[in-house]
Amino acid sequence: MVLKLNNISKRYGKKTVLNQICLELHNGIYGLLGPNGAGKTTLISIITGMLNATEGEILCDGISTKKLKKRYFDYIGYMPQYPGYYNNFTGYEMLDYYAVLKGLKKQERKVKIPEILELVNLKDYSGEKIRVYSGGMKQRLGIGTALLNDPAVLILDEPTAGLDPKERIRFRDLISKVSSHKIIIIATHIVSDVESIADRILLLNHGELIRNGTVEELCEEMEGLVWPIETAGQTKLENVYLYHFRS
Ligand code: ADP
Repeated sequence: MVLKLNNISKRYGKKTVLNQICLELHNGIYGLLGPNGAGKTTLISIITGMLNATEGEILCDGISTKKLKKRYFDYIGYMPQYPGYYNNFTGYEMLDYYAVLKGLKKQERKVKIPEILELVNLKDYSGEKIRVYSGGMKQRLGIGTALLNDPAVLILDEPTAGLDPKERIRFRDLISKVSSHKIIIIATHIVSDVESIADRILLLNHGELIRNGTVEELCEEMEGLVWPIETAGQTKLENVYLYHFRS
């Protein structure tokens, strides 16, 4: 699938939060990077269809989302920055609840939920209440709920906030596992979250898409402009990020 953003702008009163974003997304993993306030969540909300753009349109394989209406949501899987979990539900119940909301029939749910539990490595904990889940387990459950409708576009907003290094590695493995035949957008301000797994990096600053390229392209562009400092221990992409966003 190809998702095309045509001149997407968002304004609140006189404040421009997104300014004429043009973007063509193909299957693969995209890291949406930018400092807090850059407009990442706003852009994601527009892509998920939760928020209307002030201007511009989104095309899904050439068809406007305005024309697709509710059918557009069949293409979208979304894990918000702060997913709402019902602590009294078990992991299985949570997935079942979301599957009902997504319109899966009972028979489909019976097949799909065990598949998802296996995929996100929560099979052994599916009967446990969510209140005893660790941060990493909750996050994998969140990704699981986003995958229930087998979406063509999977969007994750700050997915690794609060995860320890081991859980971050598990997250990357999971994303790599589900990444074939999907557009995956990972919004984050943690460069290392996406550096090793993203096919392309989108840099957003003050509502403008200032860069769209592979990690290699962005690093090459910076040759001679940034230097690794021995004591800092940053990776090349982290230096690119600092170059654009240091205040
Ligand atoms: P990010 O996710 O990159 O941190 P956001 O998309 O949350 O950025 O916010 C981008 C900018 O838009 C911020 O300056 C924020 O204050 C502003 N903003 C977001 N939502 C609203 C709103 N409902 N009304 C006014 N300004 C908003």
